[in-house]
Amino acid sequence: MNAETIVIVGAGQAGGWAAQTLRSEGFKGHIVLIGNEPHRPYERPPLSKAVLSGDAHADTTALHKLDAFDLLNIDWRPNVSATAIDRTAKQLHLSLGSPVRYDKLILCNGGRARLLNIPGADLPGVHTLRSIEDAAALGKTLEAGKRLLVVGGGWIGLEVAATARKKGMAVTVVEAMERLCERTVPPAMSDFLLRLHTSEGVDVVLGAGVKQLARNAQGSLTATLGDGREVVCDSVLVGVGLVANDELAREAGLECDGGVLVDAQCRSSDPDILAAGDVAAWHCEWAGRRMRLESWQNAQEQGIAAARSALGTEVNHQPLPWFWSDQYDVNLQIFGMPALSHQLVVRGDQASKSFVMFFLDDGKVVAALGPNSAKDLRFARRLIERRTAVDPLRLADTSVPLAKI
Ligand SMILES: Cc1cc2nc3c(=O)[nH]c(=O)nc-3n(C[C@H](O)[C@H](O)[C@H](O)COP(=O)(O)OP(=O)(O)OC[C@H]3O[C@@H](n4cnc5c(N)ncnc54)[C@H](O)[C@@H]3O)c2cc1C
Repeated sequence: MNAETIVIVGAGQAGGWAAQTLRSEGFKGHIVLIGNEPHRPYERPPLSKAVLSGDAHADTTALHKLDAFDLLNIDWRPNVSATAIDRTAKQLHLSLGSPVRYDKLILCNGGRARLLNIPGADLPGVHTLRSIEDAAALGKTLEAGKRLLVVGGGWIGLEVAATARKKGMAVTVVEAMERLCERTVPPAMSDFLLRLHTSEGVDVVLGAGVKQLARNAQGSLTATLGDGREVVCDSVLVGVGLVANDELAREAGLECDGGVLVDAQCRSSDPDILAAGDVAAWHCEWAGRRMRLESWQNAQEQGIAAARSALGTEVNHQPLPWFWSDQYDVNLQIFGMPALSHQLVVRGDQASKSFVMFFLDDGKVVAALGPNSAKDLRFARRLIERRTAVDPLRLADTSVPLAKI
């Protein structure tokens, strides 16, 4: 390939993988990695789990060991923001230093935590969770006997609730929808999550939004819910989703729609600009629609795909979506994109902490999920990837080994 300078915006997971892949694919040119954080690329999942609880140091999240990162010979610019793309001059403007010229530009600038637009949302003690610094600030408030309010019953909210309960805090989760993780799992799984958290002592309030946060006379925080109820707490974690950082692309005239629109080659509407990870939206064949996939797996695989594509290799980024979450003693994994229209087949006892839910479309397995069922889910993954037609009765029968299906 003849590109001499490849610039990556965002030194996160996708950006880190893109940079590493450029080198492993033999690119000898100049790689500039612009990151507005002080850290080398790192992985975020532990921020709501072991790093938040203090069981792991933030350094353990780094994508590369220091010497391995140095060997990549990357022109890494920490604490620098990309501020504008000049597509005519093929230059990227920065918050610090001269603009950098690019032959190919890969946008891996992720997203930011969505904020609550209510009075009191910016009070001290109200946190969001995206970065190492966020985890450190929230972690300081996790103390046995104190009260945490989690606004938002999605994955990050539930993981933080679990971590805080393990620390001995009193935890309330308030979710505006009628069920937990409504966007990503079917009702039966939401019910499982609800049972799990209530059995661990979390007070879960569904179908209620937070209208206002205020500091009370005792110095703690009072949240007023839509139905007038009040929740008093010492700190608040707002986990109400992510906003893609697509302004840079939008202002440069690239096609965006809640994310930078790319094809399966990770190319935006400007073929010299690619995007990957949380910021990128593309037509996911497994979901049958355009979407952003906010997951560890997608950040890595799309980062790799974008780098290869920038080097001129034909790629087709259509991985089977895989997501996991750790809460208490439960490791939950999801393969594929379960939908309400799918036929649900449950294998195992739904009242236990280990079972698998299969999702069938036209008799074929298209998605599967379950708590503490890594081995079965490995088989499930194969059934999905091979689009296997199955007999639902055999699938549900735990006396029939999955390997035989
Ligand atoms: C707390 C937490 C827990 C998670 N747990 C799981 C999990 O259990 N399982 C799972 O599958 N996924 C999980 N995820 C999701 C997963 O971590 C993300 O999907 C992944 O980090 C996305 O990677 P990315 O590189 O696209 O974005 P990021 O990792 O966010 O990287 C983007 C980088 O770009 C920087 N940036 C933004 N704008 C600019 C700019 N203008 N100039 C320069 N730099 C810029 C940002 O500061 C950031 O460093 C979790 C996420 C969080 C936050």
